[in-house]
Formats: sequence, structure tokens, C-alpha cells
Amino acid sequence: MDNKQLVNAYKENISEGLFNLVAFLGFDTEEMTASGCEVKTADGRVLLDFLGSFGALNHGHLHPKVVNAVKGKLSSMGLSSKVLLNGDQARLAKKLADLTPGDLCYSFFSNSGTEAVEAAIKFAKARTGRQGIVHTAGSYHGKSLGSLSAAGRESFRKAFEPLLPSFSSIEFDDIDALKDAMESKPAAFIVEPVQGEAGVRVPRKGYLAAAREITEEAGVLLIADEVQTGIGRTGKLFACEHDGIQPDILCLAKSLGGGLMPIGATVATADVWSLFDENPLLHSSTFGGNHIACAAAIAALDAAVEEDFSRNAELMGAKLMDGLREIDSSLVLDIRGQGLLVGVQFKNSDVASIIMSGLANDGIMIAYTLNNPEVIRLEPPLVVNESQIDRFLECFAKALKSTEDLLSELE
Ligand code: PMP
Repeated sequence: MDNKQLVNAYKENISEGLFNLVAFLGFDTEEMTASGCEVKTADGRVLLDFLGSFGALNHGHLHPKVVNAVKGKLSSMGLSSKVLLNGDQARLAKKLADLTPGDLCYSFFSNSGTEAVEAAIKFAKARTGRQGIVHTAGSYHGKSLGSLSAAGRESFRKAFEPLLPSFSSIEFDDIDALKDAMESKPAAFIVEPVQGEAGVRVPRKGYLAAAREITEEAGVLLIADEVQTGIGRTGKLFACEHDGIQPDILCLAKSLGGGLMPIGATVATADVWSLFDENPLLHSSTFGGNHIACAAAIAALDAAVEEDFSRNAELMGAKLMDGLREIDSSLVLDIRGQGLLVGVQFKNSDVASIIMSGLANDGIMIAYTLNNPEVIRLEPPLVVNESQIDRFLECFAKALKSTEDLLSELE
């Protein structure tokens, strides 16, 4: 397929709208090879990846430990028979029990973030016998109907309404609102420790600890959606650790697959898991927990711990935020983040789009946050190094300057 045929296939067999979106950013060429933080394209460019596949590439592209684990598995087991014992699944579940906070110990494996959340919602309902799910304004939990019912962006929800009943939204980082919401005795409160797609919103220190206390007192389950914040992204292996709390249910996906395999995990306490006492098949997935995905996840967790991704996220995140703050530009309204989950807020989405296409021209891959297009997300692989951060900052300063010049010409 040459580039013209590829473009046609995109437009006619995938989505013309999607093609136009990537073309606007200057990314209408095929990705050919990738390694670490770089992607090589068919038109000969080497792009620096500061998007990290929306958080799925904490390990970078083709991390050797994950690649080797997957290659190793390919010569022995692929999909599970499902009726014999699956050693990779057991090893991964044990590792997650060891690494996740507190006494989280049981794992259900699926294939994506939305499935991990979907399972959490079902488990909370089944365990408590109640229906209500409280979520936060601006949140993003995925696009299947259950997760979407907890979503904070009207434009993603509208075409599918009515969504699931008994979901209610409160402001993020609002402790009083959470206390009030407990009066209706919901099944669970679901929250992202840092709201990624809402525009990288970091709550005040202690918000999660307060949420833990309030939900516990009310007998309501706390679901932490760490699909994007997990596996070292915020400077801790799991972002809940910043507040030293343990949720009742923890959702993981994206980088759990080491940037190679799709896998989601819903990890919970023994108390929550009692819902399976009568019927272990109450919730299930054909592909979830297959050998290859589990082998990738085991290697992904080992690499994250051995190479101390959290520390690099903390160090490189601080360097990135410091560098961004040193750039003087009237276009930037706010810079915020935790570890290497960083957001830059602009006046409107048009300015953010011009900056993104300027960066793309300079070979930097970038995107906005899905529920807040005024914010550019900076989410490079956690193996990013100082010189790559410097290169990004240089290109970012250049894109700001040329956008300022363009806007003043238009005035
Ligand atoms: N939860 C959070 C916090 C997310 O950021 C995302 C994806 N951006 C999801 C769930 C959904 O994950 P997926 O796209 O794998 O379904």
C-alpha cells in the first residue's frame, strides 16, 4: 500500500474525520518503526513522542524486557485453554497483590481501561446490593456504556443518552460535595487520583485521604481509576500512594501492558471479592488474562520497579515543569501536573491546536486532553532523558513565539 492508498483506506474504511484530525496536526504519514521515545515515519521523519499513546507507553516503544517476555511466551502458550490453571495469570495476580497498596489482593483481567472500570462498577453494585455510582465532573473512565455513564464530557455522552441510571456527578476535589453525596448511600465513589483527560487536574494534597475516610464511614466503596496514573506516571508506582491510601477497587490498564499488549486489571480486596463466592463466572472475559498479555504485564511491572520509573517521572517531571515555567508567554494560562503527567492550559482550544501543529512541524508528537481541548498534555514515556526534555522545551518555546507572532499579525 503506498501513501495515497493508505490515505484512501483511512478515509474510506476507517474514518475521514479521524484522518482529517491527524492530518491537521501534520501526522498524515505512516508510523514505521519505534523505539524508546522515538517513532520513525514513512516520510523519513523521526518524531519525539511526548504523548506516549495517551499514557499506554510509560515503558516507551518496544521496551526490551517486555519484548523478550512476549517473544518467550510465543513459543509456549498464547491464549489460555481457560480450564487449566494459567500460571502467568496467577503470577501476575500475585505480583499485583504484592505491589498495590494495602490489602488489595484479588485481580480480574480484561483487555482495556474501560473494561477495567466496567468491572469495577459491576463489582461495586453486586457487593453492596446498591445502585448509585458517584463520579466527578470532568472525569474520563472510558467509552463503554457503564464507564461512559460516569464521564464528564457532554459531547461524548449525548448521542448515547439515556445512560445508566443512578449515576451522579460532583465537583472534583470538593470534600463537602462528597460528604453530601454519601447521604444517598451509593454503591461507590469512582475517582481518578489525578484527572487526566479533564485537563490534568491535580487535587489538593489530602483529597484522596479525605475521600477514603468519608467513603469508609458511609460504607461506600472507593474505586480509584489509575488507568492513566498507574505504573509510575505520577512519581509513585500508583498515584494513591501520594496520599497513602488504599481504595477498595483499583483499575489499571494502559501501561500495565508494557506498551506492547492490551490488558486491563480490576484489583480489589477479599471483602469485595466475596461477590464471587456463589458464582465465580459472574463476570468473565474470553481474552482477559491470556498468557501473552500477562507475561507482558509481569515484565512491565518488573521493569517499572527495577528501573525506578517513578523516580525518573519525578525528576524529569520537575525538570519539565521548571522549564515550562521559565518560558515567558502570555498564551499560557496555567502549567500543572504530577510526575510526568503534565498539562499546559491555553486560552482556548484554537491556540492549543496551533501550538500542537507547530510542535508537530518540529517533530514532536503531542495531543490535547480529551475532555478539555484547551489543555495540551505532556506525557512522554517514563524512560525519557534530560536531553529529550531540553529538546521539547526548545521546540515548545519556538511554537509559542511563532503562535504569538501569528496572533498579533491577525489582530
Ligand atoms: N480511565 C482513565 C482514567 C483513562 O484515562 C482512560 C483512557 N484515557 C480510560 C479509563 C479508558 O481506557 P481505554 O481507552 O483503554 O478504554
